[in-house]
Amino acid sequence: MSRPLVIRKRAGDLRIKPNWTDYAAERAAFSWEAARAHLAGLPGGGLNIAHEAVDRHAADPRSGSRIALRFLGSGRDIDYRALAGLTNRFANVLAGLGVARGERVFTLLGRVPALYVSVLGSLKAGAVACPLFSAFGPEPVATRMGLGDARVLVTTADLYRRKVQPVRDRLPGLKHVLIVQETGDGMAAADGVHDFESLMAQSPRRYETAPTQAEDMALLHFTSGTTGTPKGAIHVHGAAVTHWATGRYALDLHPGDIYWCTADPGWVTGTSYGIIAPLLHGVTSVVDEGDFDAHNWYRILQDEDVSVWYTAPTAIRMLMKAGTELAKQYRFPALRFVASVGEPLNAEAVWWGEEALGLPVHDNWWQTETGGIMIANTPAFDIKPGSMGRPLPGIDACIVEHDAQGGVRIVDTPGKDGELALRRGWPSMFRGYLNNEERYRKCFDGDLYLTGDLARRDEDGYFWFVGRADDVIKSSGHLIGPFEVESALMEHPSVAEAGVIGKPDETAGEAVKAFVSLKSGWKASDELGLALLAHARKRLGAAVAPKEIDFLPALPRTRSGKIMRRLLKARELGLPEGDTSTLEGQAS
Ligand code: ATP
Ligand code: MG
Repeated sequence: MSRPLVIRKRAGDLRIKPNWTDYAAERAAFSWEAARAHLAGLPGGGLNIAHEAVDRHAADPRSGSRIALRFLGSGRDIDYRALAGLTNRFANVLAGLGVARGERVFTLLGRVPALYVSVLGSLKAGAVACPLFSAFGPEPVATRMGLGDARVLVTTADLYRRKVQPVRDRLPGLKHVLIVQETGDGMAAADGVHDFESLMAQSPRRYETAPTQAEDMALLHFTSGTTGTPKGAIHVHGAAVTHWATGRYALDLHPGDIYWCTADPGWVTGTSYGIIAPLLHGVTSVVDEGDFDAHNWYRILQDEDVSVWYTAPTAIRMLMKAGTELAKQYRFPALRFVASVGEPLNAEAVWWGEEALGLPVHDNWWQTETGGIMIANTPAFDIKPGSMGRPLPGIDACIVEHDAQGGVRIVDTPGKDGELALRRGWPSMFRGYLNNEERYRKCFDGDLYLTGDLARRDEDGYFWFVGRADDVIKSSGHLIGPFEVESALMEHPSVAEAGVIGKPDETAGEAVKAFVSLKSGWKASDELGLALLAHARKRLGAAVAPKEIDFLPALPRTRSGKIMRRLLKARELGLPEGDTSTLEGQAS
């Protein structure tokens, strides 16, 4: 299908005045010091994420009674003042248990209030918060808690029994387990196991936030494990400055917004943008405890009057799979900004937004390591569907080439593929991989952070994702980015999702092989396979188009929603699958 290459921003498109409209002017005027001035800072100096996210609004008569978090499953609303009280209590709980500054507090919980209270309360206490995804099995739980030297774990009795007890003897540093919800079942009798609610009830509602400094460690986040064993990225309290700035520039948050981030805090998106950024802006976040369900998600967007929605390509592709007719059964008059992160967003998905929701999807790019959004489609400029957008104010991105001596060189020519790099200095940049200094050092060349992603920059300064360095295919002398091939396949009306790999080939070096899953109403057949190969050849040319295609009911993906091409490849070649701890659908 041929579509325009640009979606123009027109005045009035966004239903309210956007935070910014002049990209060049805002970038020129921006400084991180000026952004920092939008945060309050601690009364005695220093910076603490939870103080900025919660206490600042709780103390303000205009925002204290505003709903901070709305939990859809339990119907519980927590306003900023109540959240301040709860997080103070939790900080007091940690103090009572003798937890020291810098010690690690893990959570293994679904998206229930105790998760949010524990993370923010830990930050207040100067402890380091590390939320784990509750569907992890015992092995991923043990490796992450072991690596992070967990001192405290907040979880439920059921999750504890199934996922922690079997590996408990591997966690000698774990001193306290706080059990949420299911009380009175005898668990509190064991050593170091406490009932969360009673400790909270016994602890005072007042707490003076620990005098943390901007460089103090605040959060530990594990990467998605798409390319291998997950790495533990260390983040500091100063990251709040990036979270605030990106909430303004990339998510266009305004007071009064009802915001929904669909990511689980077990992934960095669910913390940076599911907890911190919306609270920094004093908006109301809705929290849906459940898994993806097309009907339910449309209902939430409609009934909760969601105005800003932050989701992922995988969710959008699943909604596309469910058909536009379903979307048409709902109305979204409050919705004014939709953004996506996690994987390349195919141009088709941007256009789908226009058709199904009435507004395009704004793709943005970042990583666990960057701590916040770096490159984005924003209200301030036109969208080129298929592009990640442009670097935000304060972010200096470039494309680099590696030379034979192991150094890198910045590529100035637009349109050339290379590794995406960022000039260090933004506040939410990770400060290390836990216990892996060498791997951390390898990410830098001088003052450039090398992202491991390949991209290209066009003449207008837009960045286009090509593929992860690990996923790029070398075929007959061509370097083929899987994203381009997958996007072409997705233009076919039958294709819901596509994953492309390189398969060893005697003549070409590697041959492109595609795996696709189909939209509802389509059936896999040899004819359809041939039609898809022909479509790709027409769009991409014979050198780049896949030579082979297989149909799968669904593609293997991480729990954070990323297609695991390395697994498609390992399975295709009959090789060991490697670390699959984050694979969705894994027994848990
Ligand atoms: P691991 O590092 O363990 O292999 P991961 O890189 O998937 O896992 P994350 O930090 O969650 O872990 O994901 C960041 C990566 O996701 C980016 O490096 C990039 O490859 C991909 N990504 C994120 N957003 C986008 C986007 N908008 N377009 C293209 N790719 C994206
Ligand atoms: Mg990564």
